[in-house]
Amino acid sequence: MSVAEEVKATGFDALTLEEKLDRLAEVAVKVGLGLKEGQELIMSAPMEALPLARKITEQAYKAGAVLVTTLYGDDPSVLSRYQYAKDASFDYAAGWLMEGVANGFRKGAARLAIAGANPALLAKEDPAKVARANVAASKAGKPAMELITRHEINWTIVAAATPEWAKLVFPGEPEETAVAKLWEAIFASSRVNVEDPVAEWKRHGEHLKKRVDLLNAKRFSALHFKSADGTTDLKVGLADDHLWAGGGTMAGNGVYCQPNIPTEECFTTPHKDRVDGRVRATKPLSHQGTLIENIAVRFEGGKIVEATATAGEDVLNRLISTDEGARRLGEVALVPHNSPIAQSGILFWNTLFDENAASHIALGQAYSTCLIGGEKMDAAQLAALGANESLIHVDWMIGSAEMDVDGIAADGTAEPLMRKGAWV
Ligand code: ZN
Ligand code: ZN
Repeated sequence: MSVAEEVKATGFDALTLEEKLDRLAEVAVKVGLGLKEGQELIMSAPMEALPLARKITEQAYKAGAVLVTTLYGDDPSVLSRYQYAKDASFDYAAGWLMEGVANGFRKGAARLAIAGANPALLAKEDPAKVARANVAASKAGKPAMELITRHEINWTIVAAATPEWAKLVFPGEPEETAVAKLWEAIFASSRVNVEDPVAEWKRHGEHLKKRVDLLNAKRFSALHFKSADGTTDLKVGLADDHLWAGGGTMAGNGVYCQPNIPTEECFTTPHKDRVDGRVRATKPLSHQGTLIENIAVRFEGGKIVEATATAGEDVLNRLISTDEGARRLGEVALVPHNSPIAQSGILFWNTLFDENAASHIALGQAYSTCLIGGEKMDAAQLAALGANESLIHVDWMIGSAEMDVDGIAADGTAEPLMRKGAWV
């Protein structure tokens, strides 16, 4: 840490938790959403994130929001369903509510999600019920999710430290210490522990954009991931007319937003039929309250033909059976191993953070904005270019300090992009 950085950090440390939450809320509204005067905001938040949700609401109104509506989730209430609800409950979702949310988006509302639910909430529940409830929720949420994955509206996700999550990240610590440590990790990786977080985000966004421009100029036809121990040897073909993205998006409604706080990734659309080889996850994955550990899969012609995990294998297999596209890739992302989140060495058990600590791939739905002119194409046009379609979009981490990545040109020549997890 330089002297200047130390002064800045000390200044941040001197703030009260409430003041720190206000900084994060300001970044979420001004940088994450780029919320426009007169815009409506639909927010989702875990009950335990109430103090941050209130700060975000305050910042949103200060920025000119016409109305902020928050849907709160409650982990113990979710568990009650698994304990007491009749079997038919698990094929049911509040479709009427999700239709309303999608309508709100169509009428101009922005979307903000606060992450912070217990990543292991459903670990002991029946995987069949978990899978059914997930499918029902994905189907009901599809119209709203489509507007999000097509980047038609400005949206963002930020995180709040909650007790159950914090205890999983810092096991053995008393709850209060764990929560305080998780908050500090969130503030640091969300780049709000500096004097002017909004300016810092501008600089960071431009830095990512430069990398994105370089990758776009290369027009690679594939990426080749190879780990030193040989457990990963994967060729990921890129979609025709793929576009790399990172460091912010111009949404279809004309608002510039930063969809993830934090973000360190450059990502694009793989070709759904051109992925071959084997790959092993380098971090466990928390998916909808279940933990999946040591995922290892083999792809043939774009499709997973073999999938194993040392924990949560049942959930993994149900996940990739969701629909035809769930066995294929919808995203590939490059993240250097020296990113601040990776350097913290913390395993967050939360995709928002862990995916920004390592290169990753995502099963399922592709982002149409990661194709030239994709936002104006229909499903058939997107599929013709190789973009995958699915009800799911699940990122999992494959990068490490042992990973080499080559870019493969159309004529087959390889160019080193990453060596030992760092940009060449
Ligand atoms: Zn990603
Ligand atoms: Zn993703």
